Amino acid sequence: MKTPIQINSRFPQMGTTIFTVMSRMAAECGAVNLSQGFPDFQAEPALFDAVHRHMREGRNQYAPMAGMPELRQAIVDKVAALYGTRFDVESEVTVTAGATQAIFTAVAAFVRPGDEVIVFEPVYDSYVPAIETVGGTAVFAQLKYPDYAPDWAQVAQLISPKTRMIIINSPHNPTGSLLSADDLDQLAALLRGTDIVVLSDEVYEHILFDGEQHASLCGHPALAERSIVVSSFGKTYHITGWKIGYVVGPAALMAEFRKVHQFNVFTVHTPSQLGLADYMQDASRHLGLAAFYQEKRDFFRELMAATPFKLLPCRGTYFQLASYAGLSDLPDRDFAEWMTREVGVAVIPVSVFNADGRDDKVVRFCFAKKEETLLMGAERLRKAFVKNC
Ligand code: PMP
Ligand code: GLN
Repeated sequence: MKTPIQINSRFPQMGTTIFTVMSRMAAECGAVNLSQGFPDFQAEPALFDAVHRHMREGRNQYAPMAGMPELRQAIVDKVAALYGTRFDVESEVTVTAGATQAIFTAVAAFVRPGDEVIVFEPVYDSYVPAIETVGGTAVFAQLKYPDYAPDWAQVAQLISPKTRMIIINSPHNPTGSLLSADDLDQLAALLRGTDIVVLSDEVYEHILFDGEQHASLCGHPALAERSIVVSSFGKTYHITGWKIGYVVGPAALMAEFRKVHQFNVFTVHTPSQLGLADYMQDASRHLGLAAFYQEKRDFFRELMAATPFKLLPCRGTYFQLASYAGLSDLPDRDFAEWMTREVGVAVIPVSVFNADGRDDKVVRFCFAKKEETLLMGAERLRKAFVKNC
């Protein structure tokens, strides 16, 4: 008889990401899936045509490790136009297999065993596993319900000689809150004179509402000189499944980033990079995104106003938080599962983004959906929660 191999798991406590759990449950239950963040509508045919053209023209072999020069140029031009900093095409931009890989690679490039990394909770779910995989320790600053604003005095107290990195995310997933120019100044003041690297997750950089301006670290010289800034084409062009993103940052940091990047992905799908480079030439495609999503946000909020959920502010991203405190005593995870099974609308429980599991009875809805999907979701909520309906 064969003895089965014994695995002493390196990650005995690690579960499955909530996005996979909830999307799977939504599919099993036939629920309207407003949980995992992805659009249910198509990108423009011009983008597909561009990729096909490059495939047919034979652009199908390895791209350079840092990314196709055409795409790096388009990224550098976009960043310069928006934030006023011109990164070097050769040494200061790298194309990645999405933002998740960029984040993991940046953490692996800078964080040594025993180092501390400051993150803000609710914290996007890939940050802490990346930190712990390389032997670092996550240290938690709080963005507190209901406004989720950073407390820089608390951050100052968390900085120690072991702090190697601080990870920020604006517009913020899951809360939809934003960092202001003043927040960036306060962060810069805290970091002055240290060797702490900033990893800035700006994947929702183009999705801000009501005329708000994105405070990119690219546009803050004191922070830009110590930062790796991450973005993702998945969010900007409605192609989350393509898994293509990029990082920009000063050459010295980028050289370290590439030491890891070259051996965990080496390089990213060539024809997609070329197609994206063509598609980026029309700036209205990213500049129009805020208005596009504001219409969806406003439409969804109006529908939700007819339900007893209490909507929190949503200043950016394509996520809407809502308190169900008046509706149920269930913990948010149970509530999200119950909603998926019994109401037929899948959502994300926000406590999963809190290290201590703090539960404010808030769930996250994704409104990157067709009108008909949002209508169907809202109709189910009304039936379940509004009397005489
Ligand atoms: N960071 C944040 C804040 C996100 O919301 C996401 C995905 N939605 C990512 C990173 C990962 O992006 P990608 O799909 O490009 O890996
Ligand atoms: N970032 C997306 C969200 O917040 C999901 C991405 C993923 O499934 N890893 O829903």
